[in-house]
Order: sequence, then structure tokens, then C-alpha cells
Amino acid sequence: MPKPNLAIFGSGPAALLAAEQLCKHFDVHIYEKGKTIGRKFLVAGKGGFNLTNVAKDEALYSQYTNNNIIKEALKQFNCTQTRSWLKELGIPTYVGSSGRVFPEKDIKPAQVLQQIKDKLISHEVRFHYFHEFVGFDDKQQPVVQTESTRFTVNADFYIFALGGASWSVTGSNKDWLQPFAKLGIKTIPFEASNCGVDVLWPENFKNNYAGTYLKNIQVSAGLKVRRGELTITEYGLEGNALYPLIPSIRSGLKTARLNEIHIDLKPNNTHHQLIAKTKGKKISTKNYAYEFNLTKTALAMTKLFTPKENYISPERFVEILKSLVIPISALRPIEESISTVGGISLSEINNSFALKQNPNTFIIGEMLDWDAPTGGFLLQGCFSSAYVAASNIRQLAASTNP
Ligand SMILES: Cc1cc2nc3c(=O)[nH]c(=O)nc-3n(C[C@H](O)[C@H](O)[C@H](O)COP(=O)(O)OP(=O)(O)OC[C@H]3O[C@@H](n4cnc5c(N)ncnc54)[C@H](O)[C@@H]3O)c2cc1C
Repeated sequence: MPKPNLAIFGSGPAALLAAEQLCKHFDVHIYEKGKTIGRKFLVAGKGGFNLTNVAKDEALYSQYTNNNIIKEALKQFNCTQTRSWLKELGIPTYVGSSGRVFPEKDIKPAQVLQQIKDKLISHEVRFHYFHEFVGFDDKQQPVVQTESTRFTVNADFYIFALGGASWSVTGSNKDWLQPFAKLGIKTIPFEASNCGVDVLWPENFKNNYAGTYLKNIQVSAGLKVRRGELTITEYGLEGNALYPLIPSIRSGLKTARLNEIHIDLKPNNTHHQLIAKTKGKKISTKNYAYEFNLTKTALAMTKLFTPKENYISPERFVEILKSLVIPISALRPIEESISTVGGISLSEINNSFALKQNPNTFIIGEMLDWDAPTGGFLLQGCFSSAYVAASNIRQLAASTNP
């Protein structure tokens, strides 16, 4: 009996996991508009390359916004399954700081990608490069454009894994939003996530401190709080203490309720401990760096955002060390953000990641409107959605061809 056909559009991590899960029993075709697979995966690998994160249960689910469908998917396929899957492919992993999971030392991102590709090729998965999904025909079948031709793709099942909207050089350019909107599927405009923020630094501060860091600090926005570090940039701030707060900052900027973050420059000292340092001493502002063990950058930032009368009073200065208010003027543009929120509304899919209006068509990965911080949670969300879609396709195929 011939195998059922599966057409996958896109070749990022979500597409590749789905293809791997189904390649034994399906005739799988991958349509990729670029000349290679997984370009954003390779970009991710140039930085921290957190493949997943060992956070469990609520500590895991709470990382995801719009999280009901994603939460159910994470219950079926989480960090443990991701690590086993990678191990079976010959990619052992280890747990680093903050629960982040990395490939074992010496394993390069390109090797991870190659291992997956080799497995797919060994099962005769067909890769069609320079094949761009451009819309749907009258019968709502996907249409693909190559350099020389345009044709309709006929398959038993379809998976769309076309990515979000950042780093368009990697292929994810959101051109696909319109064809889905035309079908009457609800789409949400893309917005930047896991991105830097703009701060209107004075010229002299920028010149002196861009490129320097604030380490071992705690940042808060609304009710969200994160420890980590920040980098001062020409335009504002970047860093792992900031990215998880972006959803709060984004909604704050929209309503103008919150357009600031608070930095605790001394999270390991209580207010009382810091005040105790000032007792019985005449501390001059010149000695702040020494008395409170502050870097030049931390000191310059406190000075920048503190009225003189508060700065010259050591007691009031302590208050500022514990909660330095930094005004945020905007999020950085989508193009340079690590990920995006927006895309196809989760209200359009069921728990299997199939479109409610077309149960043979599945949407996975960053195309969907969910958000999570870096640290392995983004890739895990992509893998979990891909796994659930693949399991359901297997079941659907079995029920139609018992
Ligand atoms: C700088 C950077 C660092 C990152 N670091 C991490 C990290 O450490 N940990 C983590 O968890 N996540 C990280 N991420 C995020 C992670 O890489 C993405 O969330 C993930 O790649 C999304 O996977 P995806 O399969 O949904 O889409 P993508 O990886 O974006 O793949 C989509 C694919 O679809 C193709 N495509 C698009 N449109 C079409 C079309 N019309 N027709 C055919 N093909 C099309 C694209 O060419 C692309 O190959 C990082 C991202 C960036 C940019």
C-alpha cells in the first residue's frame, strides 16, 4: 500500500522534528523557499544555543503566554523528550546555567542540523529548495512558486512551519500572513519579542558607556522580575534580564501605564544592609563606588536618573540602588528581535495544532501567536507543537487507512 503524502512548508526546527517523526511511514516532501534548511537555527547557534530548558510543570508553563494549547503540548513533549530525541539522533546534551540545555561541547549547530538532515535523507524525505509557498488556489490547496513555475501541492496532510517575522535574512518574512488571512483565518500583527529597548541616553553617556555591562542585577517591569545582566548599547539596553520582561513592557508601552523598568543594582543586599553601611560615617558622593561596591557604569546610570538632592543623600541614594527607574521609549524593531509574537491566532487551531476549518492542515512553531523568553523555551515550544501535530497526523492516517 502506498504511504500517505505529507507536504511540509518551511524547514526550521519545527518542520524538521515533524518530518523526523513521520518520515518512516509517510512520503514526506519539504518545500523551503531558501537554498538551505534551518537558517535561523544556525543563527541561534551562534549565540547561546539553548536547545531546551529543564524547567518543569508550572515553572515551565508559566514561561509561555497564551499558553493553554502550548501547555498541553509541553505535557506531551518536554525537555526530557527533546533531549532523548536529540540523543537518539547522536546529539548528546548537557544542562548549563539557569537550566539551559546545550549540545555537548564540540558539537556545532551545523552538525546538529546535519544529523537531523541525514536521518531524513535516509528515509527518503525529499527537500525542494527555492520552493516558496505563495498562497492557496480556488480549492484552498497550497500553491508553490519556483524560479520557473508555479504549481498546486496535493497531499493527504499539510504542515505549515514558516516561522515568525524577525531576522528576515533567515527566511522568516511573514509574507505568508496574507494568504492565510484571505482564507478567513484570524491573524495577529507581528510584534517584537526577546528584543532590546530604546532609552534616550544623553550623548556623553552613550559615548562613555555603550558596550559596558551591568552584571548580577535584578530588573522588574510591572509584576515581572528577572535576575541577570544588561548591556548598555547606543540605542538603549539589551540582555537576558530584560528579554523575559518584554511582554510586560510591550503592553505597558501600549497603554502608557508602564514605560519604565526598575533596576535593583544590589539584589544580594537588603535595603537595611545597605543603610547599615552609611551609619556613623560621612560618606561623600565621591566614595559611593567604593562604599557600595559599584562599577563605573552603575554609578553613572544612577547619577543620570537621580535628582541631585537624592543623589547627595546616602540614605536616599540607597533607595535608588534598590530601584533605579529607567524610562523606556520603545521596543527595538521586529527585524532585529530574537523572536516575534503574533501570526496565526491560537483560536484558529485545535489541541492537535490542526486548523479548525481544515483538519488536514497543521500550523506549528513560531508562526503561531505565542511568546516565551529565550533560554531554550522558544525551541522547546516549536518542538512540542511539531511533536503533537505529527502524533495527530499519524493517528488520522491510521484511522483513514486502518
Ligand atoms: C539571534 C537568535 C538567537 C536565538 N537563540 C535561541 C536560543 O538560544 N534558544 C531558543 O530556544 N531559541 C532561539 N532563537 C529562536 C529560534 O531560533 C526560533 O524560535 C525558531 O527557529 C523558530 O522555528 P520555526 O521552525 O518556527 O521557524 P524558522 O526557524 O524561522 O523556520 C522557518 C522556515 O520557513 C521558511 N519559509 C518562510 N516562508 C516561506 C515560504 N513562503 N515558503 C517556503 N518556506 C518558507 C524559512 O526560509 C525558514 O527556513 C533564536 C533566534 C535568533 C534570531
